[in-house]
Amino acid sequence: MDDIEDLYNLFPEIKDHICVSKKIGQGTFSYVYLGQVLSKPDKKVALKYVIPSSSPSRTKQEIDCLLNIGGTENVIGVNAVLRNKSHILIIMPFIEHESFNDTFISWNLEEVRDYMKALLIALNRVHQCGIIHRDVKPSNFLYDRNKKMYALVDFGLAQNYDKSSENIFNYEKLNKNRSINENIPARKNMIAINSKKTAGHLILTAPKTQNKSEVNSLPHGPSSEKSQISNSQSFDRNLNEQTKKATSPNLNSHSKKFDSPKTNANTLQKYYSFQKSAFSDKCNCYNMPIVCEICTARSNKWAPRAGTAGFRAPEVLFRSNYQTPAVDIWSAGIVFLSILSGRYPFFKAVDDNMAIMQLVSLFGAESVRKSSIKYGESFVCSHDKKPEELKDICTKLRRKTASSLGSKKNSNSEILEEFPDCAYDLLKKLLDLDYEKRLSAECALKHQFFQN
Ligand code: ADP
Ligand code: MG
Repeated sequence: MDDIEDLYNLFPEIKDHICVSKKIGQGTFSYVYLGQVLSKPDKKVALKYVIPSSSPSRTKQEIDCLLNIGGTENVIGVNAVLRNKSHILIIMPFIEHESFNDTFISWNLEEVRDYMKALLIALNRVHQCGIIHRDVKPSNFLYDRNKKMYALVDFGLAQNYDKSSENIFNYEKLNKNRSINENIPARKNMIAINSKKTAGHLILTAPKTQNKSEVNSLPHGPSSEKSQISNSQSFDRNLNEQTKKATSPNLNSHSKKFDSPKTNANTLQKYYSFQKSAFSDKCNCYNMPIVCEICTARSNKWAPRAGTAGFRAPEVLFRSNYQTPAVDIWSAGIVFLSILSGRYPFFKAVDDNMAIMQLVSLFGAESVRKSSIKYGESFVCSHDKKPEELKDICTKLRRKTASSLGSKKNSNSEILEEFPDCAYDLLKKLLDLDYEKRLSAECALKHQFFQN
């Protein structure tokens, strides 16, 4: 549906009211166009054409969200919805915006504070209305710098949340035939945990040749310091290509131990091979860096995992049954992490296992192990990776970004290198691995960071 003429043919009634000028966005499930309202020269609209192969229930949920909760508190509203057979067109107010990646590094403290406050106000609205957005990220939170307007968009993955029930999805029954043997001892030198709740186990093993300083570095750490925001994509592509080779499972093979990829990128992937598998009492691979045939044949643990790589909360990565509005708060925390560190995207993983490893790189093996218990997974990590101090890592990364951007010609705006301590305190509380301890949007808005 690239052609504007096709849009007019599908929805002829819009021609009398709106002049569609160009395509302004394209996602997995939609094309978004800019339109000018003919009767009001100063009014622009965004026309979101939902591709017909999208699930009807998903489209209905998106429209319901816009109608029921949109139009206030930084949540996008809706002007009209048109349908022609399976073709849907959602007409919304147009929010002029730049790409987050092009501007966030130059925001001053006030602008960062306003942006995060606006995002939390939108999330508070959504959560108070019993909805989890499930895809919070900068491209779904539009920011008009000139008008100081914000809009949370894209409710295509939103889900209802029943506040009265913690276990909102009740997917436990799907996994109920799984059991786990708690008495199998951990392999020597490995941290191992067992859990009654589930059948999964995750093993991280470290190769012998490790350089401590490199292990301690982050995915976008020192060796990527030359790769500025503009080329972080190519860094990620490089990383993804390298790690894809190491992580694509071979289902016919008894062993799924993957060798670490050879890469110059300073990532944990360089040092760890890892695997995740189902587990049963009868299997003989528990805590071993292999997956036996019994486990390979088992069905996967199932839980909702909608969202975007790099923004998924630990409870989503561990496929927990307990997924609440806190998954959106985690994603907002990742956005804040990007701002404070000057790195976007901060995490970019090709799959959930890699994403878990990236959590280990930042929060340490022990914290991730503890959270895995909470989420009913068994997690094993051979290397006791210590947690990073969020403030230290953010200021270190931001300074590098600032100094390299400062050395560029045409860059005359001053880049903030450090934020007040309360900013890092808020970050820590948004990025609590435990969904029950993570701040709600309402509490986060009362945090000291937002009190001038
Ligand atoms: P998808 O579900 O395909 O991701 P989105 O609703 O996120 O669709 O829209 C894709 C892109 O279109 C957004 O990232 C944004 O750039 C643009 N867009 C969406 N809605 C609007 C709007 N109301 N005003 C301006 N641009 C919009
Ligand atoms: Mg989107």
